[in-house]
Amino acid sequence: MAKGNNIHIPIMGILDKLTIEDLDVKDKRVFVRADFNVPLDDSLNITDDTRIRATLPTINYAIDGGAKVILGSHLGRPKGKVDPRYSLAPVAKRLQRLLGKEVIFVPDCVGPLVDDAAKRMKQGDVMLLENLRFHPGEENNDEGFARAIAGLADYYINDAFGTAHRSHASIVGIPKFLPSAAGFLMRREIEYLQGVVCNPVRPFVAILGGAKVSGKIGVLENLQSKVDKVIVGGGMAYTFFKAMGYEVGDSLVEDDMLELVERIRKKVTEKNIKFYLPVDCVIAQSLEPGAETKIVPTQEIPRGWRALDIGPASVRLFSEALSNAKTILWNGPMGVFEIDAFSRGTFAVAHAVADAYALTIVGGGDTDLAVYRAGVSDSISFISTGGGAALQLLEGKELPGIAALSAKASKQER
Ligand code: AMP
Repeated sequence: MAKGNNIHIPIMGILDKLTIEDLDVKDKRVFVRADFNVPLDDSLNITDDTRIRATLPTINYAIDGGAKVILGSHLGRPKGKVDPRYSLAPVAKRLQRLLGKEVIFVPDCVGPLVDDAAKRMKQGDVMLLENLRFHPGEENNDEGFARAIAGLADYYINDAFGTAHRSHASIVGIPKFLPSAAGFLMRREIEYLQGVVCNPVRPFVAILGGAKVSGKIGVLENLQSKVDKVIVGGGMAYTFFKAMGYEVGDSLVEDDMLELVERIRKKVTEKNIKFYLPVDCVIAQSLEPGAETKIVPTQEIPRGWRALDIGPASVRLFSEALSNAKTILWNGPMGVFEIDAFSRGTFAVAHAVADAYALTIVGGGDTDLAVYRAGVSDSISFISTGGGAALQLLEGKELPGIAALSAKASKQER
């Protein structure tokens, strides 16, 4: 849903898979694969519950429909072993508060204890299983493990967009054994990241940033037939500058990408897509707090210095380029925004995106943190909950977790 100053553009359904609304969940045991991989502090307090909140529409829909809701998720990387630091117990507590009803928490995700608890469930009950990754079968996509979880339920719902690019048992294994559908979060992610990007209201501007060009080049290649303008900032810009023959000092450069970026830049400009790079940058000799910083034109980065943020002239240029946009996709910060001295460019671009009269999509990962810190999250139309999964969709690739769901043509009886 568009917010703030942004235009509301209804998204057409593009998902050719079943969604939870296609299933009659009444009195059925519904396994919902959620992404409850939330950050925890040293005392195991949840520091950001966005991911839990993001799945509430699906959970509430199933509860209201009279389902018995069995939730599964991973948390962190316990590497196939039980590790109390990665227990989902704090998630059960928070979920209980957010739902306003009891959440049964079972200390495993397979075995007789879990089977018994699942059998005792009544309509509207919610049960959360312990971390799926406490078992090696999860990441190994073990068929026996997937079958054991599938045995708990009548239907499988995937709402874990952030994990949809992983071929793990709970993502691609369980749906082999059950009628499977997308939850509301999954559907929204696909509709925005695939639907809008494939069929944008123009002008469509993509802003790409972040550390490395190698992480974003697939997105740039896929978007080059769809965008009207591309803005490149962050560390990845300096591989482009080096390829153009500029002195970039100690700025981040991927030498093995030089030929490729030059080829893409030429191809993009030949297609008459407007291509923007920073015109100035904030430089320093180190990332140490208190290190001297300077603002210089990008052609004048001295040896021994590195570019760590875009400068004020680039902010004006990029804001100008965004001013007539109707659709904006942003993935990757403009600088090392985690450090105050190099955060202004990213925050200024966050404000320009938030103020644009456009449908605005932020592509997850670090960029969602940047818009949050800039205080403009509420003015962005859609913020993806998936980092790697969002990138893969934007690269035009199919996600295993979406491919595994039942096709729309094979609708279950209502
Ligand atoms: P990514 O995961 O590729 O989107 O990269 C995000 C990271 O890029 C952030 O942690 C930023 O600190 C980092 N970053 C952005 N701009 C630069 C830069 N000019 N030099 C080094 N790192 C950068």
